[in-house]
Amino acid sequence: MARIITRAGLGVLGLLIAVAVIANISTAAAKFFGLGVAIVGLFIFFGLIEHFFPAIKREKRRRKGVVTDVIWFFVDPTVSKGVTTAAIVVVVLIIASIAGVHLDKDSINTFARRDTLISSQPALLQGVEVFVALDLIAYWSHRMFHRRALLWRYHSVHHSSTEVDWLSSVRVHPLNEAGTRVVQAIPLVLLGYNPTVIAGFVPLLTLYAIYLHANVPWSYGPLRYVIASPVFHRWHHTTELEGIDKDFAGMFPWMDAIFGTLYLPKDRQPMTFGILNEAVPDTFWGQLTYPFRRRPAAEEAIKAA
Ligand SMILES: [Zn+2]
Repeated sequence: MARIITRAGLGVLGLLIAVAVIANISTAAAKFFGLGVAIVGLFIFFGLIEHFFPAIKREKRRRKGVVTDVIWFFVDPTVSKGVTTAAIVVVVLIIASIAGVHLDKDSINTFARRDTLISSQPALLQGVEVFVALDLIAYWSHRMFHRRALLWRYHSVHHSSTEVDWLSSVRVHPLNEAGTRVVQAIPLVLLGYNPTVIAGFVPLLTLYAIYLHANVPWSYGPLRYVIASPVFHRWHHTTELEGIDKDFAGMFPWMDAIFGTLYLPKDRQPMTFGILNEAVPDTFWGQLTYPFRRRPAAEEAIKAA
């Protein structure tokens, strides 16, 4: 009898594990399928606009690093998103424990959505404030990722593309992504902004970042200093000395104007892209592990200068 029960128990356990594994595999498979459809759609859409309106005409049909960037395209919404979520959870738990909030989901949720002067504003007003605040924080975190040698190790991966186009936007190290999102989300939640309003901007910012890298010559004429354009952002990626460490904003160039880093000449566009004095590997694995590698002291000195 006991043997039968043990066997039945083992059978049920085995079945449960099998269901869990299959459910996970099918969820992952569905996610990868969705991403596969998305990348084909994006290749068609941006392929067309970059073909008909190129900022820089390509000599070769296929640019360097396409395979590496396709891998990054699948890594960003899976691995990087997971790392970012985990980082935000850890920071929220630390803050909650310091604030004396119970460390269970309901108490933390109640704290994050507590009534404050800020959260009682109309949703639209909160949305505008969050939009500007997110870019203000992104401006400074981006600037720090350039100016601090330790942070530059991670951000240099993003700047390693020598041909900037829509697909090069996804080449972002997971810890660069997690670092930026943590410093964006935490202060706003602490101030009392609604987490749903904050999270609502993530898809928009992600899509806009993809478009900003597109190889198109658009700069929006009179709105060039108001909204970030592909030309504005590609100055940020140039190796031409006049554009180095300029144009950090992701959405509002006037942030750069306020903080003294705007560079947006009316009469020309940047022509060369990448990083000076540093060789980031071309492969996905090489780029993922690049920040953790030992490097010559001279290279550190160049960046620290
Ligand atoms: Zn940058």
